[in-house]
Amino acid sequence: MSKIAEEVGDCQRCALGKDRNMPVLGEGPLDALLMFVGEGPGADEDVQGKPFVGKAGQLLDRILKAAEISREEIYITNVVKCRPPGNRVPAIEEIVVCQKFLEAQIAIINPSIIVCLGNTPAKWILGTTEGITKLRGRWFSWRGIDVMPMFHPSYLLRNESRKKDSPKALTWQDIQEVRKRLDDARLRRSR
Ligand code: URA
Ligand code: URA
Repeated sequence: MSKIAEEVGDCQRCALGKDRNMPVLGEGPLDALLMFVGEGPGADEDVQGKPFVGKAGQLLDRILKAAEISREEIYITNVVKCRPPGNRVPAIEEIVVCQKFLEAQIAIINPSIIVCLGNTPAKWILGTTEGITKLRGRWFSWRGIDVMPMFHPSYLLRNESRKKDSPKALTWQDIQEVRKRLDDARLRRSR
């Protein structure tokens, strides 16, 4: 991982390298059973060099807390490691240039479960054009890893309703599913 960090550190392989302040590799234990993959760093992440530390990250913390999942035990990263200007969706050529880093991170961590936050990671991992609304809440199997797409916390910040079947209500449901699967993975590891 330190070798990847070194490569990402001064990366200028795509246009995002020009405008970013700092790349954000990701953080968490290298033996994590559970990995979260977001889209790309936002403004706060670009300053601090850490994933999900801004408003979306604070909401992610609350979602994890609701399911009694400790953030310290999960590895969190993004599809692209540098902030897209104005938080636009990363371009396909930026994703293609950056994906070797995410590939390497997944290979090192070898998680049991990957949660895709929003469309960008869901489309990359599942190789589909289906939107997150259709994908979320279902388990997919990818290279032997259980994959759960969920809404992106930024999307939840724009959709505050907690009514039945609102994005927030569905996400609180989805994270409980992840928690159950994490418990199973813990049991298997401890055997
Ligand atoms: N949004 C993301 O997709 N990733 C972050 O790290 C922060 C916000
Ligand atoms: N678009 C995304 O990328 N993610 C969501 O969660 C919703 C819409």
